[in-house]
Amino acid sequence: MEHRRILLVEDERAVARGLEYALRQEGYQVDWAANGQQALELARSTNPDLIILDIRLPDISGFEICRTLRQEGKRQPILMLTARDEEVDKVLGLELGADDYVVKPYSLRELVSRVRALLRRAYGELALAGTPQERLLFGDLEIDVGRFQVRRGGQPVDLTPTEFRLLRYMASHPERPFRRSELVEAVWGYDSDINSERTVDVHIRHLRQKLEEDPTAPRHLVTVRGVGYKFQP
Ligand code: CA
Repeated sequence: MEHRRILLVEDERAVARGLEYALRQEGYQVDWAANGQQALELARSTNPDLIILDIRLPDISGFEICRTLRQEGKRQPILMLTARDEEVDKVLGLELGADDYVVKPYSLRELVSRVRALLRRAYGELALAGTPQERLLFGDLEIDVGRFQVRRGGQPVDLTPTEFRLLRYMASHPERPFRRSELVEAVWGYDSDINSERTVDVHIRHLRQKLEEDPTAPRHLVTVRGVGYKFQP
């Protein structure tokens, strides 16, 4: 079950080698792309289970690749690799539909554990948790748990897998306030840190933009001052 296929997009050969080795040790199949063009070709031809995407590449930026793949309807988890001075880029990366990011320099152990968590929540127990047939209905909002679909006023809403999991988790416990750290553990599948708690804020903002009539005055995804967030039916 660990024979997942990973597309590694990283132009620095030495870095890529080290990563590839660490991932193979874990039993993953790894394809390596050294530039953006190759990355797009391999993403289309090998249909990887997960993509590790460096932002700074010689030809096409990681942002552009991420955006392109999402526009093509590719839904696999994307883990962005960012340099330390790319604070703004980090958030931007998430807004493009990436699922998570790791800041360089990172430890191989950290990166591998992020990969494992992303795969688990995309394909494993966490993804399947909940009643498959269940449909959650809240006013004009319908969450089809089994089909991974959300409709608003009958119209399908395009959510990333992470956005869907976050929404489903919160909507399964209406009115319950969650701390960010709880959401990180339940939805992302790992212990929270400052960075991952910020990730929650970014995803909530995206969900509001996609689901709320007025994202600045949300009715479903509500901020609970001093705590975090709750889902209001
Ligand atoms: Ca690079």
